Amino acid sequence: MRHDRLIVFGAVALCLLMPIQTRAQEPDTWTDPYQPALLPGFVGDMDAYADAPRYTIDMVLNVTVTEATITGHQTVLYTNRTPQIPLDTIVFRLYPNLESYGGQMQVSNVTADGAPVTPKLDDTNTVLIIPLPATLEAGASVTLEMDFTTVIEVGEEHLYAQFSYLEGVLALPNAYPVLSVFEPGQGWWQVTDHPQGDAVYSETAFYLVDITAPADLILVASGSEIDMTTNGDGTLTHHYAAPLMRDFALMANSRYVTLTGEQDGVTVNLYYDPGVRRGTSAAQAGLQMALDAVRIYNTSFGPYPFSELDFVQTPTSAGGIEYPGLIVVTDDIWDASDPFFEFVIVHETAHQWWYSLVGNDQTRDPWIDESLAQFSVAVYVHDLEGEAGYEGSIEFYTSQYEDFIATYPDQKIGLPVIDYEDNAYFYMIYEKGPLFYAELAETYGYAQVITMLQDYFAAYRYEIAEPGDLLESFETSLGEDLDVLFEEWVGEMPVG
Ligand SMILES: [Zn+2]
Repeated sequence: MRHDRLIVFGAVALCLLMPIQTRAQEPDTWTDPYQPALLPGFVGDMDAYADAPRYTIDMVLNVTVTEATITGHQTVLYTNRTPQIPLDTIVFRLYPNLESYGGQMQVSNVTADGAPVTPKLDDTNTVLIIPLPATLEAGASVTLEMDFTTVIEVGEEHLYAQFSYLEGVLALPNAYPVLSVFEPGQGWWQVTDHPQGDAVYSETAFYLVDITAPADLILVASGSEIDMTTNGDGTLTHHYAAPLMRDFALMANSRYVTLTGEQDGVTVNLYYDPGVRRGTSAAQAGLQMALDAVRIYNTSFGPYPFSELDFVQTPTSAGGIEYPGLIVVTDDIWDASDPFFEFVIVHETAHQWWYSLVGNDQTRDPWIDESLAQFSVAVYVHDLEGEAGYEGSIEFYTSQYEDFIATYPDQKIGLPVIDYEDNAYFYMIYEKGPLFYAELAETYGYAQVITMLQDYFAAYRYEIAEPGDLLESFETSLGEDLDVLFEEWVGEMPVG
């Protein structure tokens, strides 16, 4: 991607040298529909991603007392951005079919540049391999179209009830076929073993999504709602734009009310059922926590570029779950006097920087986003309560970690999710992981670590980071060799 940026800058320079007649051509306006979803200062960020995937999705959401069904059609403009690797297939992931999601998704009528193709589905029904009628050379694009149907039955409650229809709340993340990631040397990412943690690995993309749904349903989605159409049949069509996002999530409930604030130009919304737990009083406190977190992370790591950030109360059995531009918080802790409420809001907000903006393979390198989100909670506390508060956060992680390894084996933090048994995943990634950053702060100074994270964020915003990228980025920032420290904490690192 670094090269792509250079090409764009090169193209800009060329334009300036061209005669006036050439420059007077129709301006390229492909970015126009997405602009409302970005803060004005970040609209130009789209230019470097003209070849990122572009989804145009139509969804019709039908809800009965027993199930919710999405009938959809999507068009995806996909450009081969590999370094000179021709592609014969393109892979989509059907996440609702994962055992951990508990839904059902079917795809039909797949075409590539208008030609019908017959995709293959793996044994888990979650990997859809689309054969291309012609090899897609590096730099070339193909338009893929498909119909899909996604169903979730009421009461299905798998893993974190991440994908569910419970108590009238529809949690529908990844409800459309999501492009997988092509990794040079490894091919298309196809991990299906998902015992715990987050399931999704995807690239920054552009979304224009129309969702037709019953008028009484309050929808919350990634990106910004840019328009709404009243259909006269009891439904509304909501039009969303979500640029530079690596996923598009949708939640809905007829009982949601909204509390809204603003921080650094970002509209922050809390959607909640006022009848659940501490309802509005918790939401008021939660909004302030969310605004503080956005302010602190904007200052500490770099700016959140989107116009909107939504927090949504759902019955997930996880404390919270992060999606681009959208965070769910479990209704179980919707109470400001529960310290976990603030912790979840602040941790999940940090994921907008670590996971959403800087992406990673959440199944192979869960520490890259989770351990940093945990350390970010300590950064939030440092800002609000100073050094002593920060030390308290680190001591908390330390005691949790030490209690665990008093009984169970210690492990490196850099392993894939499947290499941790049961609670070891939580204790290694969430309790030991942030101590890696605390160790860096102890050695090089807290301010130096913040600078290091700013540099890392600036370099990998909208991109994907792998362990070797962190190592290289941190070493460059600090001007120090960190190989030994990384190997001690994270594990074996790529040579470089
Ligand atoms: Zn997390």
